[in-house]
This record gives sequence, C-alpha cells and structure tokens, in this order.
Amino acid sequence: MKRDIDKLLAIHGATTPRYTSYPTAPHFGADVGPSLVPELISACGHHNQTSVYLHIPYCDRLCWFCGCHTKQTKRYEPVQAYVETLVQEIEAFGERAGFRPVMSALHLGGGSPSLLKSEDMARIGEVVRRVFDVRDDAEIALEIDPSDVTDDTLDGLVALGLTRASIGVQDFDPDVQTAINRPQTYETTAAVADAVRKRTGCTLNIDALYGLPRQTSERLERTIEQVISLSPDRVALFGYAHVPWAKTHQRMIADSDLPGRHERLSQAAMAADQLRAAGYETIGFDHFAKPEDSLAVAARTGQLQRNFQGYTADAAPVLIGFGASAISQYPGGYIQNIVPTNNYRTAVANGEPTAARGYALTEDDRMRAFAIARLLCDFRLDFTALAEQFGSSVWPVAERVKQCVADDGFALASIEGWVLTIPDDARSFARIVASWLDAYRTEGETARYSQAV
Ligand code: SF4
Repeated sequence: MKRDIDKLLAIHGATTPRYTSYPTAPHFGADVGPSLVPELISACGHHNQTSVYLHIPYCDRLCWFCGCHTKQTKRYEPVQAYVETLVQEIEAFGERAGFRPVMSALHLGGGSPSLLKSEDMARIGEVVRRVFDVRDDAEIALEIDPSDVTDDTLDGLVALGLTRASIGVQDFDPDVQTAINRPQTYETTAAVADAVRKRTGCTLNIDALYGLPRQTSERLERTIEQVISLSPDRVALFGYAHVPWAKTHQRMIADSDLPGRHERLSQAAMAADQLRAAGYETIGFDHFAKPEDSLAVAARTGQLQRNFQGYTADAAPVLIGFGASAISQYPGGYIQNIVPTNNYRTAVANGEPTAARGYALTEDDRMRAFAIARLLCDFRLDFTALAEQFGSSVWPVAERVKQCVADDGFALASIEGWVLTIPDDARSFARIVASWLDAYRTEGETARYSQAV
C-alpha cells in the first residue's frame, strides 16, 4: 500500500519510543531503585540463566552522531580506575547475593570497551567467572571501534573468551564520515574484522546507520555493498536518532545536512533489499542475519527477544547491568545505575547503592510489556492467547487496539479473530502500532524520542 508518510507521521506523532523496555526509561522513578535490588538477586536464584551487561563509558574519540552514555578521554588512567570500580561493584554484588548466579551471556558495551587493555579485559573476565557460574556455552560479546584495535586488544579478547564481536561501521563514505567526525576506512575495518575472527573464532555483527548527515541512497548502497563483502553473521541497520536537545554534541550536525523523512525511508528500504538479496533474513524491524545465525533461528522459531540492547536471541529472564548508567531487568521490574560516571564511582568507593532509579512492574505493565515485545518480534499478537496468560484485563486493551486499527487509515495493522498483524510493508512503522498498547503514552512525551522511522 502506498502511504502518505507526512500525513501518517503528523497523525501518529513524528517520534515514538524504541520500546527496548516497557514502560520506557523516562518513567523510571528515583524512589524505587535500591529497594528493588533484593528482588533482582532473588530472581537470579530462581532462574537458571542470567545475562550480564558491563558498561564502559569511555571513547578515545567522540562521534557527533553518538547517542550513548560515554565521554572522550585521551588518557588511559581514568579508564583503568573505572575498571577497578567496576570490579568492586561486581564483587559487592556477589557478596550480597551469597551464591553464584548461572551466567549465560556477557555483553560489554559503551562507549568503546575495545579501548580496554588486555590486562583489564582479563581482569574483568576473571571477576565475572569468580562471581558468576559461567555456562560453557555462554555468549561473550563486545562492541568494537576498529580504530582502537591493536595486538594487545586481540590478546585481551582471547583472554575474555570472545564469541561475538560487534563492529561499528555507520557509513564508509568519507564525506559522511567527516560530517559525523568518524574517519574509518573500509581497509582498516576489514583488517580488524579478519584479525578478530581469526584470533577468537567469534561470529561478527556490524552496525550501520541510515539517515546520517550528507548520506544519500547511493552512498549508503555502496556502504552496504562493502558491509556485505565482510560477510558478517548479523547486520544491525539503525536509523540515526537526531536528538540534539538530549545529546548536545549532535549540535555539531547541521539540520540542513540531514536527509528528509522520505529519503530516510527509501534509504532503509534500499539497504534492507540489498541485505535480503545477499541472503540475509530480516529480523524485527532493524536487524538482518544469515539463516544459520542464532538470531535468525530465534526469529523463525518465535524465540526472538527484545531487551535494552535491541533484538537478541538471549532468552535469559534476568539481565544484570554493571557500570555507570547500566540498566538491570528482571521479571519484576527495572533498575538503573547512577548515570554520571564520577557519582557512580563515588558510590561504589563508599559502599553506597549504585542503583539510582527503577520501576516495579504491575500486572498490567507485565501484560503490556509482553504484548509489545511479541508484537515487535513477531509482528503478530494473539489477544486470545494473551488473555489465557494474563486474564480478562487483556480485553479492554484489545478493544482499544481494535479501535486504533479502525481509526488508523494507513493500514499499519489489521485485526481478525483477535489476532493483530502488522503487514510486511508496514514493519518500519511497528513502533507506532506498539504505542497503541502503551498506557503511559501522552502527547507531551513525543519530544523525548527519536523519529519513528
Ligand atoms: S559511536 Fe562509539 S566510538 Fe563513537 S562516541 Fe559513540 S560509543 Fe564512542
């Protein structure tokens, strides 16, 4: 169906949450963070799978497009001191728990965890293995900025037991790279991807972006060709989120350099077509994977999950975040650590709680969180099955969604026999359909989020 995109976004709101959590992080409260920690620990004991996320909020360069919690440093001392704090936080968690939770996945993100020296990667690996009972088949993933990688980095990745590397590419065009302050040649990226794979035997994810300043469909097409030539197992294709009111360094990007909504949409569609033509399967609305990759297998078998890192095959019901700003997630709610790095370090040094805010889920939240996650993973939601799981409180929500479908006018979704379905050609707008299930969505919220497409 041909849609009037300007009209569609004018009606549904130009901005929508990414729904990596429900409720979204702006709804977390400062009054509940530390009080939820005992429940989080108890959830680790009840489930035989825990994921661990470690946040490294440092980079040796600052890319203008970046939306992460990070800061630039030219010296290694602050990073080393931070690692020491992180180790203390993990040890304190272990002491408080009094048992070793079973760990099924470890993810180091940031920031640029690839700037860690090998001795610090080994130190992190050692404390994680001491505090957690690490499964033999655990996935160990780390985000890599290719400009960081040296022989020492490769030694560190081996010591850590890396099983999946995630390399940030964004766009290979030099003019786009100038506009986002991220020089990075194809040759360097290819050499790093090759070296990391050879040394660790890991699988590879590549992150690319559309909607960047000075990006055109032709430039993105060339970038995706180059990405495909690296033969990654997965590709994450995100739309650049321009939120200069929240990320002040994005003010370095001129609004006039940004592609318009129609251009963004055609860039995303073109890149998706290229990846599919190269044999990748579409996962959710912004990931692609080779058919044999665990993400593709999870999507085909209805096991795909969504957490703070986006789409994942990791089914662990508990995710523990360590480090400044890191978020923990368990069946009962969310807990976010102190965001400013210095305040986080001071809290750990003083033995004070690192949890700054959180959210305790109600039964209604749990039902809506489950429904939104399934809708964004499967593009289909069966309200009858949902009611069998969560009870009759599902039906007023289903009635409201049915009304949204009737009022929509853009065929973003259909509902038949109480099964809500998003058609293939509307998957880019899945977040808008998900917002129909969001009880907290208000008009005033829209300014917090990035463009819905
Ligand atoms: S994009 Fe990556 S390397 Fe660039 S500033 Fe953000 S976290 Fe650091």
